[in-house]
Amino acid sequence: MDKNFKNHASRCYRLGTETAFSVLARANFLSEKGRSIINLGIGQPDFSTPEHIVEAAIKALKDGHHGYTQSSGIPKLKEAVAEDIFKRHKVEVSNEKILIVPGGKVIIFFSAMLLGEKGKEILYPNPGFPIYESAIKFSGAKAVPYKLKENLGFSFSAEDILNKLNQKTSLIIINSPANPTGGVVPEEELTKLAKGLEKYPNTVLMSDEIYDQFCFGKIKFKSMLTFPSIKDRLIILNGWSKTYAMTGWRLGYGIFPTHLYETAEKLAVNIHSCVNSSAQYAAIEALTGPQDCVKEMNNSFKRRADLMYNKLNEIELLSCQRPQGAFYCFPNIKKLQIKALTFQNNLLEKAGVATVAGTSFGNYGEGFLRLSCANSDSAIEEAINRIDNFIN
Ligand code: PLP
Repeated sequence: MDKNFKNHASRCYRLGTETAFSVLARANFLSEKGRSIINLGIGQPDFSTPEHIVEAAIKALKDGHHGYTQSSGIPKLKEAVAEDIFKRHKVEVSNEKILIVPGGKVIIFFSAMLLGEKGKEILYPNPGFPIYESAIKFSGAKAVPYKLKENLGFSFSAEDILNKLNQKTSLIIINSPANPTGGVVPEEELTKLAKGLEKYPNTVLMSDEIYDQFCFGKIKFKSMLTFPSIKDRLIILNGWSKTYAMTGWRLGYGIFPTHLYETAEKLAVNIHSCVNSSAQYAAIEALTGPQDCVKEMNNSFKRRADLMYNKLNEIELLSCQRPQGAFYCFPNIKKLQIKALTFQNNLLEKAGVATVAGTSFGNYGEGFLRLSCANSDSAIEEAINRIDNFIN
């Protein structure tokens, strides 16, 4: 940002970004120039949105659904979300707590806007999705990182989080299965966290569960919705982007406690009015139609994550934890004695492989690299061979 231009509000200087988008732009630029680039950078499924979902959107447009909808989402869609949650977690959620938004990301910003301001503290995972730190800082609150540890398979220790809590902590953000590490937090740690939070009745928990259906390791996914003791101060972030390969449709949802819902809805009215109407009809079909597509994607990500994990560990100077979910590998590159960002740039410019430096996900990401498994088996094999050759 141009520091000579003095009229920016000071909060603008605290805003971060998601580097994966600049890597994507550079990778596309190089491809257009004729270079062979394998993209393991951006975090989105490489599958198309399933046909029956696309058809539902086309039908909605043809049926004349062209106008604004209820700001919080069309009632049938909220019902479908509630039914899906009941089916998967056996938890009843009232429609009045569900807010449909243009992408799960919006819930991060809303949570920070609702609970962050100067004098408050918000805890977030590091390495973690970069928008957490950005939104917290923008809100004026102090961004307090907690470390996801490699030796814990990039899970967190509930004790680490609880030790950082104080009366100023207004919000804790957790994310499992996690971007960028592929880590999944075991039920035992989640239980400890929920129990520990009993001492802090004013602290809200935001659980980003956007990768919940891509959990394929030994550790089973457990939604924070299943902990009744915190249900009155729990925000859930979820959506369609990853589960149904719908990143470009811009669809997500939040579940808010009653005392925050009204203001969250007001933010929606102020910012985006409502979500694209035909996309909401597609979202109903996604939740109520056949679910084989989700299973198939989960199986593919598992197979590709295993392939990538095995191949990365064959490279002498790299070591990689086995991903438990999401669609990323996060190998340790410390033996190369090179900054993660330099390695990212060299791999893209010289080896033709787009990846994202661990530091794009926070300071504790130094010494790591994020590779997305959302590419074909052959592309993954070729990319890791290129990385191996480049290192050697
Ligand atoms: N949360 C995490 C952890 C993510 O990785 C992403 C997207 O990459 C999002 C939220 C945002 O998803 P959406 O595309 O629905 O805004």
